[in-house]
Amino acid sequence: MRRAIDWILLIATLAFAAWYWHSHRVELRSTAAIIKIRMKPCSSPVSYYVAGIDPRYGLTEAEFAGILKDAESIWEGLSGLDLLERADGGGDIAVSMVYDVRQESVDRLRKLGFSTDRTAAAYEQLRKRYDSMSAALAPHRARMDARMAAYKRDEAEYNSVIAEYNRIGRATPAQKRIFETVRSRLAREYAGLKRLEAAVNADINTLNALATAMNQMILDLDMNVEQYNREGSAMGVYEEGIYRQDARGRAIELYKYHDRDQLLRLAAHEMGHALGLGHVDDERAVMSALNNGKNFELRPADLAELQRACTPPLRRAFDRLFSRGEEEKPS
Ligand SMILES: [Zn+2]
Repeated sequence: MRRAIDWILLIATLAFAAWYWHSHRVELRSTAAIIKIRMKPCSSPVSYYVAGIDPRYGLTEAEFAGILKDAESIWEGLSGLDLLERADGGGDIAVSMVYDVRQESVDRLRKLGFSTDRTAAAYEQLRKRYDSMSAALAPHRARMDARMAAYKRDEAEYNSVIAEYNRIGRATPAQKRIFETVRSRLAREYAGLKRLEAAVNADINTLNALATAMNQMILDLDMNVEQYNREGSAMGVYEEGIYRQDARGRAIELYKYHDRDQLLRLAAHEMGHALGLGHVDDERAVMSALNNGKNFELRPADLAELQRACTPPLRRAFDRLFSRGEEEKPS
């Protein structure tokens, strides 16, 4: 009897373990991978794959893969380490180009012939356009709102008169002709209002796109001005890309494609985060938080940060313990 219970317990435990592995295998694999990277960083290359490119970027998978390959070379060329590798059809890190409101704004403004370069001059040009459009729009909007209110009143009155005649069930042919005239006049007014609304909405969308693009510039150029708070415009802290690591796995999402150089720097920066690097102070470095440098080479600050990220945690703790005395010496 005792033996039978032991067997049942063993089988139940194994069944539970199998079920747990099966239902949590994605999370378990990703956790195992993360633990391995933490314990032995840089010991084997991290693999990445193209998980998706929003078609609105107009970027082919081959072009994107080429940019990622160049970003990989930025890390491997100077360090001499095999840090990253592309793996088709699945790997450690899913890399994708995600389209969001900021890119939409940039595209919209470009179509209208605006420059959205990260320069104070471009910002000034957008600001002037924003102010003049915003001033021109105000009276249009007020007129439209007044016309809409008048239309709503006329429509309600017409509907109540018709309802009254329907209730008594009597209307002379002459009255019917009048109703018909009023109804078609209301329909014409409504169509006119819809055209006006479309024009006003197009201007509102352009204003929102201008506000979003200007908010981006305010952050990029570190300007000391208030952000534009418009309904439908994006505010806050912008990120052109992110690296995330959670139960769903590890992923790099890139949100901005201005030109090849910008995307290359951005991809290299996010790959750096994926390798465990943090931000460094040197503004020209790949791992600068501002990410608006012009160079494509690792700077000494990047290499020092790579060295830190590639040191196993135990070794790091050990080094900290024994170098404490040296660090306190004045240099
Ligand atoms: Zn960053």
